Formats: sequence, structure tokens, C-alpha cells
Amino acid sequence: MNAPRPIAFFDMKAQQSLIRAEIDAGIARILDHGRFIQGPEVDAFEAQLAAFAGAKHAVGVSSGTDALQIAMMAEGIGPGDAVFLPAFTYTATAEVPLVLGATPIFVDVDPATFNLDLADLERRLALVQAEGRLRPRAVIGVDLYGLPADWPAIEALCAQHGMFALDDAAQAFGGALGNRRLGTYAHATACSFYPTKTLGCYGDGGALLTNDPDRAELYRSLRTHGEGKTRYEVHRTGMNGRLDSIQAAILIAKLPLLETELKSRAQAAAWYEAALVGRVRTPQLPPGAQNAPATHAWGIYTITLPDAAARGRVQASMQAAGVPSAIYYPKPLHHQPAYAAAHAGGITAGAPPLPVSERLCDQVLSLPMHPYLTQDDVARVAAAVLAGL
Ligand SMILES: *Cc1c(COP(=O)(O)O)cnc(C)c1O
Repeated sequence: MNAPRPIAFFDMKAQQSLIRAEIDAGIARILDHGRFIQGPEVDAFEAQLAAFAGAKHAVGVSSGTDALQIAMMAEGIGPGDAVFLPAFTYTATAEVPLVLGATPIFVDVDPATFNLDLADLERRLALVQAEGRLRPRAVIGVDLYGLPADWPAIEALCAQHGMFALDDAAQAFGGALGNRRLGTYAHATACSFYPTKTLGCYGDGGALLTNDPDRAELYRSLRTHGEGKTRYEVHRTGMNGRLDSIQAAILIAKLPLLETELKSRAQAAAWYEAALVGRVRTPQLPPGAQNAPATHAWGIYTITLPDAAARGRVQASMQAAGVPSAIYYPKPLHHQPAYAAAHAGGITAGAPPLPVSERLCDQVLSLPMHPYLTQDDVARVAAAVLAGL
């Protein structure tokens, strides 16, 4: 009997085999022309990326984290500023305000969508305003696992209070609300091209998308040490945050596959749903937004178990079956040693608890998700999950 084919958690090999010749040719061209930094591939990729998302401007940068940082630097966010963000997200979302001297205010997430809970956001905003110590400056909404956050509501709240709205779409590139893709919501959208994201390069890379020409120009300056019109004129304190030509060439080869890959991810999610629904909690799309239904990018497929013990049993069952799994994330950010002090110093009169974020850290379990899963792969993963219940 043949051993069953191994199931990858993320699969970058199957995709590479489709475009290997194009990637090799793209890299060879760069070795020949020698413009490793700010080469023509970067300009070409930015134009294609903007067109795909429907955004007016795309600025390639060195990572998703640097995209977040450049966007915050462009607003002049720093000491004394409050930046609202979910307590249940990847560490980079919280790290950036802290690096700039601002104070992250952790907000709880919605138990159905795992994205920012708008009522909790408004509650914490009111507390910060009442204390009067920090200036509410920005909201970073995260499209966790690929599901777009409630951008119309976040945008409205930011407009009402003069705050900067930043979309951390690192897990969600390709996702949409109605017929508008992520990249066209918020004042700016940060993308990551870390290899395992829905659009990934072969190293670190990222981009900022915006419809605002002034912000796009600032982002270009900030990614290159704050340079002005000429290279040796420094207009502001920036950073080295460029996307390099070789990564841009890889992204140019991959972008044409993305539309089909998003459909394949959705197909895999539908197979999971059919196999698991009623037995474990499967991902839920937000109800109600008929005029702008959410299109999940399915960057990560996450089920929710009743508690940590049940999750441990399912994990063990999957491991015994040779099926990989992962936990995104095991600890809410306000409990991270590096961020606990900032959390305590945010709303000093006693911040409300963050029960949903804390509970989810014990319950969530992510299953293999990539565009090259077969129906048989999904059936094997689902069987391993169900055997552990
Ligand atoms: C991956 C990720 C980032 C950071 O992206 P990098 O390119 O790794 O710097 C930021 N936020 C979220 C939610 C992410 O998943």
C-alpha cells in the first residue's frame, strides 16, 4: 500500500512548479541589468498590484510590519497618541505603535468574526477621551484569517473622531466587501508578502495601498530614508523600507495566479464546511451586510473547539494521523510580557476585560489551507479532526 501523500499546512511548492520557468527568467533578467534595488520590476509590480486591488496607488515596501510602520510614521503618530487595535492578532500589529512611542489600546474581538468588536472599540475610545491623557489617533483593523473587518463601520467611527484608519490586511489580500477589494477601504491598507500569505514572495516583502496621492508620496519618501525630490535631500526621518527587485519579479509571476488560487481556497473551505459543520464551530461570515457581503480570502482556516482540553485532543488526533495544525494565537496581546505594561498604562482607571480574545486563545485551531489541497486531502484532515472530538 502506498503511503498517503503528505498534507502541507501551507504549500508553496505546488505553486512554484507552475511558474518556476518564469521566476528563473525574471531573476536572470535582474542579474543581467543589476538594478537590485528600485529596479523596473518594482514599478511594474506596484502598477499591477494597484490594479488588482482597485486602489489608486501601491507602494512596495520591505514587509507587512514595515508597511504598518511607514503608514503610522506618515501620520506623525508617536508619544501621547492612542492607537486602537485588536487584542487577538499577530504581534506585529501591536509592535508598530510601541516602536513609535504611541500607546496601543487593546480592543476585544467579535465572537463570530474574530475581528474588531465595534461596541468595545467605542467603549474604550470613550474611556480614553474621558481620561484625557492620550490623544485618540488611529484604529488598526485586522482582517483576521482573511475575513474583512467591518470597514464601513470602522471608517465611520474614524471619520467622526478624526482618527486615521489603517487596514492590516496581511492575512487577507484578495478579500473583499461587496465588489470592493481590501486595499480600497480605510485611509491605507498594509499588505504582507511573507511567503505563506495569500500573495507571498520568497523572502520578506509588503506594500501599502491607498487612494490618497499625498499619502502615497509620503510612503515613497519614508521607505527611502525620507528622501525628497533628489536622493540626497532628506525631508523627514524615514527608514530603509524598500521592496527589492527580485521579490517584485517573483510577485509579478505569482499575481496572475491569485484570482484562481482564491477560488481554490474558497473551494477547500467549502469542503471543510461540509465535512465539519455541526461537529465543530467552523468559520462564520458576518451576517446582515447584504449590500456588501464579505468575501473571505481564506488565508488561514480556523475552527473553534469548546475549550483547551478539547483542542488538545483534536491536535493530538491530527498529529497521530500525520496532519499538521497550528494555533493562531495562543496568547492575547495584552498578556504578552512585552505589551502588558503598555496595556496597563493605556486606560489607567482600569481597562474593561477582554474575555473573547482570552477565550479564543484556548479554543482556536487552524487546519491546513492552501490553493492546492485536494478534496481527498480535506477529507483526511476532517476525518482526523472528527476522530479527536
Ligand atoms: C504576517 C502579519 C503581519 C506582518 O507581516 P510581515 O510581512 O511578516 O512583517 C502583520 N499583521 C498580521 C495580522 C500578519 O498576519
